[in-house]
Amino acid sequence: MAVHADPLRLVIGDKAAKRLASALDLHTVGDLLGYYPRRYDKRGELTDLVSLREGDYVTVQAEVARVSSRPMRNRRGTICEATVTDGRGTLTLTFFGRGRQDFREKELAPGTRGLFSGQVSSFRGKRQLTHPDYELLGTGPSAARAAEYAAELIPVYPATSQMPSWKIADSVRLALHSLDVPEDPLPGELRKRYGLCGYLDALRGIHRPVDFADKDRAVERLKWDEAFALQVLLAQRRLAAADYTAVPRPPVENGLLAEFDAALPFELTAGQRQASADITAALASDHPMNRLLQGEVGSGKTVVAIRAMLQVVDAVGQAVLLAPTEVLAQQHYRSISSLLGPLGMAGQLGGADHATRLTLLTGSMGAAARRKALLEAASGAAGIVIGTHALLEDRVQFADLGLVVVDEQHRFGVEQRDALREKAGEGRPHVLVMTATPIPRTVAMTVFGDLDVSTLTELPAGRAPIDTHVVPAAERPHYVARTWERIREEVAAGRQAYVVCPRIGDETEAHLRGADESAGYSLAQLDDEDRLDGAPARPPLAVVDLAAQLAEGELAGLRVGIMHGRLAPDDKDKVMLAFADGKLDVLVTTTVVEVGVDVPNATVMVIMDAERFGVSQLHQLRGRVGRGSHGGLCLLVTEAAEESPARERLTAVASTTDGFVLSRIDLAQRREGDVLGTAQAGRKSSLRLLRLLDDEELIGRAREEAVELVAADPALFSQPGLAAAVRLLVEHERASFLEKS
Ligand code: ADP
Ligand code: MG
Repeated sequence: MAVHADPLRLVIGDKAAKRLASALDLHTVGDLLGYYPRRYDKRGELTDLVSLREGDYVTVQAEVARVSSRPMRNRRGTICEATVTDGRGTLTLTFFGRGRQDFREKELAPGTRGLFSGQVSSFRGKRQLTHPDYELLGTGPSAARAAEYAAELIPVYPATSQMPSWKIADSVRLALHSLDVPEDPLPGELRKRYGLCGYLDALRGIHRPVDFADKDRAVERLKWDEAFALQVLLAQRRLAAADYTAVPRPPVENGLLAEFDAALPFELTAGQRQASADITAALASDHPMNRLLQGEVGSGKTVVAIRAMLQVVDAVGQAVLLAPTEVLAQQHYRSISSLLGPLGMAGQLGGADHATRLTLLTGSMGAAARRKALLEAASGAAGIVIGTHALLEDRVQFADLGLVVVDEQHRFGVEQRDALREKAGEGRPHVLVMTATPIPRTVAMTVFGDLDVSTLTELPAGRAPIDTHVVPAAERPHYVARTWERIREEVAAGRQAYVVCPRIGDETEAHLRGADESAGYSLAQLDDEDRLDGAPARPPLAVVDLAAQLAEGELAGLRVGIMHGRLAPDDKDKVMLAFADGKLDVLVTTTVVEVGVDVPNATVMVIMDAERFGVSQLHQLRGRVGRGSHGGLCLLVTEAAEESPARERLTAVASTTDGFVLSRIDLAQRREGDVLGTAQAGRKSSLRLLRLLDDEELIGRAREEAVELVAADPALFSQPGLAAAVRLLVEHERASFLEKS
């Protein structure tokens, strides 16, 4: 008998094991049995050949009457044709081969009996099976096997040319026969509660189901294995994290936070109040907070973050705000400075009595300014430090770092959060991660399973809604002309507009691929499949080209500026300031404006080649307009054909502004692995059957069960089978992490 961890050669022999290793990277018995079929085909009954209907998927038992090969007429290669008979009717089997001789001509010698599976088609009046699967009866299995064979579902594995599905199935059969599972990975109690079958049963059921009900039972059970091991691991991690200590930062009565609240020019929304209350309590604890704050673009996350930072400053700690781009860091710096007013101007003229100091630290700062900022952070003079990746560098020191706020999580990895954590002196800092890409609950539970979540579901009152329309440039070119007219009208009314392009332009291919952060980002968002699903076959429109064209043509007379990631940081800042100050009417830009930029007077956003952007990205982009009291308008210009998936995606974006609905659409269009893989290494390999959207309920239950189990038995002493499964998961995670780095 073999166990999961045993090398495959023990059960299928050296040769087959080597082939599986090289073709599919499968090495152990567990690897192979975790390689699930992609789908199942019904073999159909043994059929008498006369009654075959075109289109049917059949397995016939028949005898070869004759066989011949001939070279193909128009291409290289060989056609091998065999005629099989059941004594009455005949059927042609057709195979296309690469070489000059087809091995099947030998195998299918007249008189040979076999089982042939395939779909019936018709060619020149003759019914045929093209490339049928077959197994010859003369050469092995008995007649009893033949009956079994015809009744079963055919598992179809993701195969390669060296390793056809057929051969994988044979190896799986051997492995299943010799597998011994001394300990079921799922606790017996749990299995009983949810009516789940045993592990061995499930493996047999997924690889060799008798019928579809059998397969469904197996899948249900194996999904539990995936969800449960993951949730147990996350529960263990949360438990371990609770062992870390942090300096408690309880709120004080007459501090900066109280003054800030008193001066706030608006009422907090209910969501902001709830999130703030959660955070206030968590910061007061002597365990580090680990919280995700998610909420629509414009839902007011920054205010919640400022309140958290002020609470920490009141408790004599420091807070850092980490932004994904230079533009955003600067904008945060400006807007937080203005929101804090005198409260953030310690040591400056007009600063309040017990004010704190706001310090900006970015990569592009001059040496002197940088030295000053470093000093303020290290001495503790700066209560709040705002910056980019530059904050992660070794020489950045803090006097007493109490809180790390990460804006727009998806551009920072776990490792970067950890780098900042290291900078806290005593214990660990509290961590607040903000994201405007709403994350479906199940993704939050799996990818961010070690974080608590607060959600802002409403926008501040008085916010005018954004109107979104698709502009079909190919079918209705005059709509595009109308688009530019709309911009002129808005500008005439004193407003401003963004025009977003997927590409910077004026670049070499190398630039496009790697060197530029913003352009690289937008293109990398879409894989080839997405890009081809409706995008026109020309290079995507570029900022530099379009800006020049518009300035001389459709938008002549308006003040048109350009913005992209390849501008010098100083220039970026200048352009952004000019736009914010109303000194530019139109900003032609890449997705650098995607995150967080706040110009309330901008009311129109035109997105060119909109099909090149993902759903979430479009949603983020349009969040840049309609931030003031004037309604926002977003126009998605596309040449994608009406029926294409790309157009459907755009129509979806136009039809709702509910970020949660859109994030589900986004998730549904991507594969699980992409979602998980980009967010956190390792999960990709561990989720095979679980669908984050469809299995929400199961994942939720698995989480509850896992929390309960881990609380009672953190080291899983009572569940050796489960402990092994969790260990395997950790190994997978580590392996894919190593691959990445
Ligand atoms: P985001 O969640 O996208 O980061 P911001 O924090 O940038 O949103 O907030 C968007 C705008 O809404 C800012 O100008 C902010 O001052 C304003 N704002 C935040 N909360 C409220 C509120 N409760 N009422 C009115 N305006 C608010
Ligand atoms: Mg923001």
